[in-house]
Amino acid sequence: MHRRTFLQAAAAAPVAAMPATAAAQYQSRTRGLPKLTIKQVYPIVTSPGGRYQWVFVKVVTSEPGLYGIGSASNVHQALTVAAAIEKHLAPFWIGRDVDRIDDIWYATTYRSYRRSDTVLNNALSGLDMALWDIKGKRAGMPVYDLLGGKVRDAVPCYGHADGKSMDEVADNVKAFLDRGYRHVRAQIGGYGGGGMIAPGQGTRPKGGYAGSAFEEEVYVEAIPKLMEHLRVRLGKDVKLIHDVHEHLSPTMAVELARRMEPYRMFYVEDILPPEMIQWFRNIRQVTTTPLAMGEIFTNPQEWLPCITERIIDYVRCRISTVGGITPARKIANLCETFGVRTAWQEGGDNDPVNFAAACHIDLASTAFGIQEDNRWPDMIHELLPGTPKLPDGFAYVNEAPGLGIDIKEEEARKFPLTPPSGKEDGFTVRAIDGSLVRP
Ligand code: MG
Repeated sequence: MHRRTFLQAAAAAPVAAMPATAAAQYQSRTRGLPKLTIKQVYPIVTSPGGRYQWVFVKVVTSEPGLYGIGSASNVHQALTVAAAIEKHLAPFWIGRDVDRIDDIWYATTYRSYRRSDTVLNNALSGLDMALWDIKGKRAGMPVYDLLGGKVRDAVPCYGHADGKSMDEVADNVKAFLDRGYRHVRAQIGGYGGGGMIAPGQGTRPKGGYAGSAFEEEVYVEAIPKLMEHLRVRLGKDVKLIHDVHEHLSPTMAVELARRMEPYRMFYVEDILPPEMIQWFRNIRQVTTTPLAMGEIFTNPQEWLPCITERIIDYVRCRISTVGGITPARKIANLCETFGVRTAWQEGGDNDPVNFAAACHIDLASTAFGIQEDNRWPDMIHELLPGTPKLPDGFAYVNEAPGLGIDIKEEEARKFPLTPPSGKEDGFTVRAIDGSLVRP
């Protein structure tokens, strides 16, 4: 059509006759979305299959049928987090504008006056993720689009390999490689494994602690040998990770990092406890072994110096522990500026909503380094439809608006929370004289 003829035809056409295309709808919009408020907030506490201790948060809005869900899971204080949400915070949140996420986040933090409380951060995370979920549903976009859009096609993940012998570890690392994983964490006999003196063995105080005992000198000898074995068996291509789980004293941490250098680690995780982060500077001065830290960080004063002084390579905070997507994306942005990368903590006791939140940030962040994987049995995929899938070493999120994950609430309530045992759990490690080792 000639341009003038087209313009004349367009001018003559009544507005009502315009096709109701999405483009026309965008053109006709003169304002943003109508104001919505938080109508109801409550925790959903569940132990599906008796295996997990999860706390989810459901935020119901004033628009019928529109709600969001978030993760507030904290295996160590599940009931405390649930009570904080139900008794203290829900009354503070009800009636607020669902779109003002950052404002609600800070208002909640300042309301508690003392910052970075772990229980508060978990509760806030539940609300924060649910609000991003709602915002995505309102916009008709997955959360990663709200964060700027995809910068990668899927989320590369690392798997956890373990074994009783070095050959068994190598076999299990290889099994991940065969499935498509390129990054694998290798442990031998769990955290501290390789450095454990068997129950009843060794020279011990009479009548004292008789259980499995951690000895750091033994560990620092054993782990480089494991990595050497893996390189000989599997070659140089596999990207190896090892988790020290904060067990070492500072000088031994420096020593281990040095000894790991020939094996070209992807990173060594939590080589120091959070109380000793200044020692990362010492490690940096003597070795190029890459370092990852952060899964027990709750306070910006812990991750700030690590990132801004560039004394770690990967920050590993758990999204639900730092307070949700809002603070996590700020951490990722900070990392981008300083050349540090992200490796959000997953695995273990984490839940699928927290994993989905991590994956949305991963998809949209140029500071991404790697994602710890998490896989659940079929019953969890049924209970939480939209749980991300990892068929080949990459995580794929559901492309639905929001976080793309939901919870069958009535089903979840059929699994009441497994009561805490009161006994020492896997986080309690002791030395041969019965003294505690930092977990
Ligand atoms: Mg770890």
